[in-house]
Amino acid sequence: MSESTALSESTALSESTALSKSTALSESTAQLDKEDPLAALRQQFHLPDDTVYLDGNSLGALPKGVSKAVADAVEKQWGEDLISSWNKNDWIRLPNLVGEAIAPFIGAASGQVLCCDSISVNLFKLLASALELQGERRVILALEEDFPTDAYIAQGIARLLGEARCELRRVAPDCLEDALDEDVAVLMLTEVNYRSGERYDMAVITRAAHAAGALVLWDLAHSAGVMPVELDRANVDFAVGCGYKYFNGGPGAPGFLYVNHRHQSDVRQPLSGWLGHRDPFAFAADYEAGSGVQRYQAGTPPVISMVALRAALEVLQLTDIARVRDKSLALTAFFMQGLASRGQLDALECLTPEEPERRGSQVSVRHEQAWGISQALIEAKVIVDFRAPDIVRFGFAPLYNSFADAERALDILAEVLADERYLHERFRHRPAVT
Ligand SMILES: *Cc1c(COP(=O)(O)O)cnc(C)c1O
Repeated sequence: MSESTALSESTALSESTALSKSTALSESTAQLDKEDPLAALRQQFHLPDDTVYLDGNSLGALPKGVSKAVADAVEKQWGEDLISSWNKNDWIRLPNLVGEAIAPFIGAASGQVLCCDSISVNLFKLLASALELQGERRVILALEEDFPTDAYIAQGIARLLGEARCELRRVAPDCLEDALDEDVAVLMLTEVNYRSGERYDMAVITRAAHAAGALVLWDLAHSAGVMPVELDRANVDFAVGCGYKYFNGGPGAPGFLYVNHRHQSDVRQPLSGWLGHRDPFAFAADYEAGSGVQRYQAGTPPVISMVALRAALEVLQLTDIARVRDKSLALTAFFMQGLASRGQLDALECLTPEEPERRGSQVSVRHEQAWGISQALIEAKVIVDFRAPDIVRFGFAPLYNSFADAERALDILAEVLADERYLHERFRHRPAVT
């Protein structure tokens, strides 16, 4: 059975389960939670009482095991073992160890994933590598509506190299294939769009790019940890992803990068720091790249953050990522069906595709007063987020969200829309982080 058949069959199943029951009252919602094979994992997380947290696509909730692991790393490893911890507690190998722990969730065989830096920094390193591999080809092709940092980094590289060597070209999704001309060095895109929640077909797009002679770099910020990703099987060249979203690694958790084995002996990257050196502790005068993915490490890893991420991954290791995807689709189907059956789509436009294989794990709606609506929901303890200028995102994290959470969010949303409290003065102020 092909992967896509397996995916669509399993999603069809979970979708129909959710759809057929969602119109009934909350008794059936309780039944869905009772039948949920992942329900017990909720106990692995610390979550505030009376709060429906639907923002795990922006900052994952705190796994209880993280507090203990971090306390141990701080008090015992740092406090007592001090500098010996680099060897004794394997601090020096954390970027590799955590990369290896992430690898199975993104369909990567061993030796291709390194945990390091932010997505932005990792994009810089990988885009530079891709451009260098591609010689004369100088275009970074991207989608118009993708997450801004991805484009900003490409613009920074273009400025650094000059336009003879690099240009960022952005197109609408339906123009992607036509835009793959002989100038394109690398196609960069996010598997699940951060605004709409739309998911792109990694295998098909990667094949099209390769047929046109381009390399492909996928950003997994909204897919890694919440659905099976098959980087090796799709023959992807490069990828980046996030530690603090669906992997629950905590605020500022390091991200990760993937470099396919076939490129590893040819690639170079410009942040040639000492820990990417072949032999860092030889303190040689000149840089010599380390082997494989190791050369993408620049400096000293953020040990405490990596310890946190490593402990957070243990929750995901208790289950199967295919099951996580099944539940994710069931939750989003339940929520979308609820929006439709309650007539809320008269007031809101749903941006997230209905076809299961075409969506990620969030439901995005558009409304002129999206900011006020998001603030009114948060005030009522349904934590969502707002994306300028007019989008409210409901992110579903299958490890800790329940069908009851989805129903509660629908109920509160109905109240907010009915009494129009989102227009109130108290929701005018916008803080620095939205
Ligand atoms: C969250 C997110 C990022 C974050 O980038 P950092 O450099 O890690 O802050 C990048 N790209 C996408 C698509 C994202 O959703």
